[in-house]
Amino acid sequence: MTDSHRPFLPRAVPVLRLAPGTLQIGGADGDPGLRVGPLPADSSRALAVLLRGLDGNRPTAAVVAEGVAAGLDRAVVADVLAALRACGRLVDVSSTDLLAAAHTPAARARTEVELPAALGDGRPGTWGRRSGSSVVVDGATRVGVPLASMLAASGVGRVHVRDRGTVGAADTVVGGLSAADEGRPRTLAAADAVRRAAPDVDLRPLPPGTAPDLLVLTRPWAAVDPLLAGLQSARVPHLVATVRGEVGVVGPLVVPGRTGCLRCAEVTRTDTAPEWPALASQLREPPTARTGPPVGPVTGGTGVSLATAVTALTQALGHLDGTAAPVALDATLELRSPDLLPRRRPWPAHPACACRAGAAAAEGRPGAGGREQGHWGA
Ligand SMILES: [Zn+2]
Repeated sequence: MTDSHRPFLPRAVPVLRLAPGTLQIGGADGDPGLRVGPLPADSSRALAVLLRGLDGNRPTAAVVAEGVAAGLDRAVVADVLAALRACGRLVDVSSTDLLAAAHTPAARARTEVELPAALGDGRPGTWGRRSGSSVVVDGATRVGVPLASMLAASGVGRVHVRDRGTVGAADTVVGGLSAADEGRPRTLAAADAVRRAAPDVDLRPLPPGTAPDLLVLTRPWAAVDPLLAGLQSARVPHLVATVRGEVGVVGPLVVPGRTGCLRCAEVTRTDTAPEWPALASQLREPPTARTGPPVGPVTGGTGVSLATAVTALTQALGHLDGTAAPVALDATLELRSPDLLPRRRPWPAHPACACRAGAAAAEGRPGAGGREQGHWGA
């Protein structure tokens, strides 16, 4: 642990008096906690004040010095901080996290609620990385807008929802578009929804010639849309997150060069159902394309839409944070009523698909992160 890390005890972690001179920090709800004491009464009170003041702004050395100045033993303070870290109640904020979090008192207050989830398990710097990340959500749907709102609220610095057409009455969903948005342009209404959840987020489309860190496809059959084939060649990581009928589908998460692609799943499906390409070509057509202006696909009740959005949030953040391999790599997570618990279905790369060969040929190419082609922001 370097001195650039600043200990932060989330306000949700209680500092309780267990007995005279003895404190219990956390552990009130089955989670690991720490008991300290018995200490002299003055020391116990000073330690409680010191712990409650761990706001992530001061390095560990400054906190220890502050404790000593308050009459506490240096070794006791250091041991308590180390034990709280070990049991996961204390997280460390890095200087990059601080820079990303402290714009205004209100922004700081909102961030403090989100930091424990982002920085837990010894991941200082995660908040700073999220702040520098960009996500484009393709489709202001009942999954897409709540997902975009949650990504922004979880610290992703730039979130743009792209769509066309206008909002319909059935688009209303908790955390997404509202009844008052009916008739408005979908992109503008979606931006307002994201801003309600995260007032400081950057909502602008990405500049031409740049690509997001992740593109999320939220239309029911976007995965078979030929317009999206360019994602693979441009090496833009992309994630499917949608509801088909009443089944939530999250994944696959495609990282070009590392995983199978959306076509792999289609080829696999065609192996067992030769009629699939003919059906898919009809499914990808918007239902109203021949009868009027485009509207968004309306599918999925509130429960399955929001459960799908939350599941997609965890996969997207896992990819952006780079701290663990998302389970939606080469797989889908499917959510069905009544429990809506995600169930994983593997979709390995298909040997007849050229994506793996193409990836192998591209290995070692400078800048192979895929940010140099196309206009993905609008
Ligand atoms: Zn493939």
